[in-house]
Amino acid sequence: MSKTIYIAGLGLIGGSLALAIRKAHPTYRILGYNRPEKSQQIARERGMVNDLTDDFASFAPLADIIILAVPIKQTILFLKELAQLDLKKGVIITDVGSTKQEIVAVAEVCFANREIDFIGGHPMAGSHKSGAIAADVSLFENAYYIFTPTQFTQERALTSLKDLFKGTGARYIEVAADEHDRVTSQISHFPHILATSLMLQTGDYAESHEHTKYFTAGGFRDMTRIAESEPDLWTSILLSNSRAVLDRIEEFKERLDEVAQLIFQKNEPAIWKFFNQGRAMRQAMEIHKKGGVDSFYDLFVEVPDEEDVVLKILELLRGISLVNLHINEENREDSHGVLQLTFKNAQDLATAEVIIKNNTDYHITIT
Ligand code: NAD
Repeated sequence: MSKTIYIAGLGLIGGSLALAIRKAHPTYRILGYNRPEKSQQIARERGMVNDLTDDFASFAPLADIIILAVPIKQTILFLKELAQLDLKKGVIITDVGSTKQEIVAVAEVCFANREIDFIGGHPMAGSHKSGAIAADVSLFENAYYIFTPTQFTQERALTSLKDLFKGTGARYIEVAADEHDRVTSQISHFPHILATSLMLQTGDYAESHEHTKYFTAGGFRDMTRIAESEPDLWTSILLSNSRAVLDRIEEFKERLDEVAQLIFQKNEPAIWKFFNQGRAMRQAMEIHKKGGVDSFYDLFVEVPDEEDVVLKILELLRGISLVNLHINEENREDSHGVLQLTFKNAQDLATAEVIIKNNTDYHITIT
């Protein structure tokens, strides 16, 4: 049976979902909302939707399933607007917001005593890139797609959404909204604060130490990549999960104080233990192997400073899908640069490694 799906917000997440729905359900009619900006034009050009509006309320009554894929603050405003509209009987509404408790609470008030099923959702994959231009049909492959059902959730609604999103290749999991927010404060929201703080501290430092920006290398890059994330989105996330995020900040301050104390005391065994425990913990959690938030696979190629070297590598990798490509100027006397190639999965990375090794003598590092 064909369905009408309405996606509000055709940015990175909404656009990627539209492409995945198209793939698995080519007969579904996909309607889109987007503000009149670049993403609207790109969504049209990439054929993400059958029809597009910049008036949110206009398409809502036509939909069997509504997906809100806008920043959290706007998601809440749209939920309140939907509550005032005459929607189809039995319509299912979901969102993709990075926090869940506030959104679920608002939805339950808005849709109480109405034949509307709301289920909070959070596809746990993403990128520091944004907009329809960055949308990717395989963005959620192997990632967790979290649903936060409550006592009011109808099983048929959950089943419908799981079927709708099957083209994402994501792994579904159900978690309570408050637990979702606590866990994501630790592994996503707080790390964004850390990355940005580190970047700002380094920027300030660079003002009085001019070598700072030349000496940044792989570790610093890894630690600060997410400082390039979209400010609107992250402001919304922190304000919507402030209690948990403040708890994480307090805990971290204590941890920093403890490390400072060890250094002050020149407590060599304790400092060693600190690093050793961190290493063991990271290895035990198998961070590299998980398809979670921002879990990509990087390959670094040291390339000579020669014309067309990047083109040569890209030509070798033709057919392998790249998530990102970055050229880092290295701080080395022989003026090599490092080409950072980011892949979506371990298999693509392994294939690329073999191809580059067999066809060049460039040094490769995998993190
Ligand atoms: P995006 O910037 O790529 O897209 C956001 C979309 O919302 C755009 O189409 C934009 O036009 C629209 N929008 C923004 N502000 C609006 C407003 N005030 N009124 C109407 N429309 C507005 O962002 P995204 O990464 O797709 O994020 C969308 C949602 O997905 C957010 O709720 C975010 O928390 C969640 N999310 C993001 C990630 C990630 O890594 N980026 C991962 C999982 C979930």
